[in-house]
Amino acid sequence: MSFTLHGIPVSRGIAIGRAYLIAPAALDVDHYLIEPAQIEGEVGRFRAAQQRVHEELNVLRADLAADAPTEMGAFIDVHMMILNDVMLVQETIDLIRTRRYNVEWALTEQLERLSRHFDDIEDEYLRERKADIEQVVERVLKALAGAPGIVDNVHGACDEMIVVAHDIAPADMMQFKTQTFQGFVTDLGGRTSHTAIVARSLGIPAAVGVQHASALIRQDDLIIVDGDHGIVIVDPAPIVLEEYSYRQSEKELEQRKLQRLKFSPTQTLCGTRIELCANIELPDDARAAIESGATGVGLFRTEFLFMNHKDRMAEEEEQFSAYRRAVELMNGLPVTIRTIDVGADKPLDSMGGGDGYETAVNPALGLRAIRWSLSEPQMFLTQLRAILRASAFGKVKILIPMLAHAQEIDQTLDLIREAKRQLDDAGIAYDPNVQVGAMIEIPAAAIALPLFLKRLDFLSIGTNDLIQYTLAIDRADNAVAHLYDPLHPAVLHLIAFTLREAKRAGVPVSVCGEMAGDPALTRLLLGMGLTEFSMHPSQLLEVKQEVLRSHLKTLEKPVADVLASFEPEEVQAALKRVALV
Ligand code: PEP
Ligand code: MG
Repeated sequence: MSFTLHGIPVSRGIAIGRAYLIAPAALDVDHYLIEPAQIEGEVGRFRAAQQRVHEELNVLRADLAADAPTEMGAFIDVHMMILNDVMLVQETIDLIRTRRYNVEWALTEQLERLSRHFDDIEDEYLRERKADIEQVVERVLKALAGAPGIVDNVHGACDEMIVVAHDIAPADMMQFKTQTFQGFVTDLGGRTSHTAIVARSLGIPAAVGVQHASALIRQDDLIIVDGDHGIVIVDPAPIVLEEYSYRQSEKELEQRKLQRLKFSPTQTLCGTRIELCANIELPDDARAAIESGATGVGLFRTEFLFMNHKDRMAEEEEQFSAYRRAVELMNGLPVTIRTIDVGADKPLDSMGGGDGYETAVNPALGLRAIRWSLSEPQMFLTQLRAILRASAFGKVKILIPMLAHAQEIDQTLDLIREAKRQLDDAGIAYDPNVQVGAMIEIPAAAIALPLFLKRLDFLSIGTNDLIQYTLAIDRADNAVAHLYDPLHPAVLHLIAFTLREAKRAGVPVSVCGEMAGDPALTRLLLGMGLTEFSMHPSQLLEVKQEVLRSHLKTLEKPVADVLASFEPEEVQAALKRVALV
């Protein structure tokens, strides 16, 4: 019987194949009481399984491909830490000793207890760390059962398989790379789960948070994963299958055709040169940036380097080598490094306690991004020194998120001067002319633009937050997602105003929010005067194709009509004319 499941799209594309189910061992363990004389033997069984998983993780780490995202090593470290954590190990042994539970029972009981603590956490990112503990327990249970590890299990599976699981550890996800699976579906996970992050970096169609998928889908069921929309179609009707096969081949064909554009210069039909840069999250993403033909990194979101550091921030050396790596991989092309943007939906493990973060009623309006950096000047100086040091190895620009006030800009510039002074004192090289820019992502910043134009070298419009703060829509809240509208006249006016005023003042300005990577909006942005876009590398060639087909002069009138419209139907009608000229 055909049915459709809905989840969260995390990695684009269409996959069609047979379901390969990975059953969670935790659902199916024996529960029995042991005799007092068996206690030490049972503890020994637990220790042996723990040791086996230890070895398994070591093998995974040693096998990591050279091009694996750098955070993969960090995921394995986190799992190693959990494997040795007293909360898991000692408490499980206590349950064996005091309650005389068999080890599988003790382990799943302890997992339940830990899970309950996590369920009470409001923060999405931290709540999702529960999945890491479940994945470690899963490995130990498999080791106790003498079962092969998840990865060993799937050797020999054919390449038309789509993995369906309750959850997949990121480390396993990396191993799947060599198995040429078509796609992934998991019951658990959100946009910020590690599994989602890795699926995206592997470029495999995936949907997560597809509730009960692993219970409803059976081994070998024919399934379609629509990674663009987060839809999973099980046992599709022949006509649906045909439609998706057609869409899949169209997409492949389009992708192949687009590859031809990679090395052509990006300019409009009237000869205006347009810069298309890449957004990256980890230094090694710079490879994908280069491969997509990007002419620089327009946004390096550095906060991902700071995640998985339990009780401390990333040290200066560690940060420096990450920034330097991205700069060197870009081989002379500019790299715009944004200072840490934590808070709201991206808290750090080490945040909280004393900094007001934990108690913030609305963290999106709280101590986020530059506000947090200015409240932690030593940490901020460390990051600034690390970025400046990387500027000795290529062209680096510093980008500051979430600025709104003149004094915030001034304090930031003071701290940059201080970081330079410290490097001078230590005799360490950096580019003294490194440019400093601001994200324009709070409506107040756009409206008070002269404050920024006077003080900064360049601007970058962060449309994701500009929309969130202009429309008072929490970008992470599904309940109001339908009101999150890039085409709201207020949003368009703020963008157009920023582009016009920056141009008039001779200050370079780019757009680095999701709007820049949406080919349906490319002409509108070009018509508003945008000449620098920054987006995920996978979107770059589609946007380039739109640029190559556009003529700025003919866009003037229809784009002016869009900006003069307030009624949604009028905006839509004018937008259609933008697409047709
Ligand atoms: C934005 O807000 O548009 C942006 C690019 O930054 P982030 O998505 O990291 O907040
Ligand atoms: Mg932002």
